Amino acid sequence: MYEGAVQDLIDELGRLPGVGPKSAQRIAFHLLAADAADVGRLVASLQRVQAEVRFCSICFNVAEADQCRICRDPRRSLDTICVVEEPKDVVAIERTREFRGRYHVLGGAISPIEGIGPDDLKVKELMSRLMDGSVTELIIATDPNLEGEATAAYLARLVSPMGLAVSRLASGLPVGGDLEYADEVTLGRAFEGRRRI
Ligand SMILES: [Zn+2]
Repeated sequence: MYEGAVQDLIDELGRLPGVGPKSAQRIAFHLLAADAADVGRLVASLQRVQAEVRFCSICFNVAEADQCRICRDPRRSLDTICVVEEPKDVVAIERTREFRGRYHVLGGAISPIEGIGPDDLKVKELMSRLMDGSVTELIIATDPNLEGEATAAYLARLVSPMGLAVSRLASGLPVGGDLEYADEVTLGRAFEGRRRI
């Protein structure tokens, strides 16, 4: 549609998650009109991410060293591991300030449709972290959707012979929501996670 470089940029932007063709075009033309300094900062931060950021050798969270900040923090308890799908989930849970244990980032969820099985995730690595017996509790905080539920069920089954306390995050109904509009997964989980008042 456009000539060379502009179209290449639109194509590259369009490959990013959540960026449709229209957004890709809007971002591309925004960048074309932007100051060279602004574009330079964007390019530099992309290059820095490529060069400096890697994944923690223990939990597979993003890290700027061999181990991430959380795994290096001696104040975090070693007996509880919270399993999440992506590094962004670590950030979300950290924001709640409710959890003082460690994490394990799977790198996705089991999805037969997309051909993603346990071997494509950091499941083996999780199992070897659980082997030495210092972990006593596993909190499975995968997403509350079909893939996340399937992953949670798989992990719960896998670790059941180890005698750990295994829990799944209670997922509630959205505050301010209406019961009749909740989908069955949400409502089912809310029911399961009910507590005495
Ligand atoms: Zn880590």
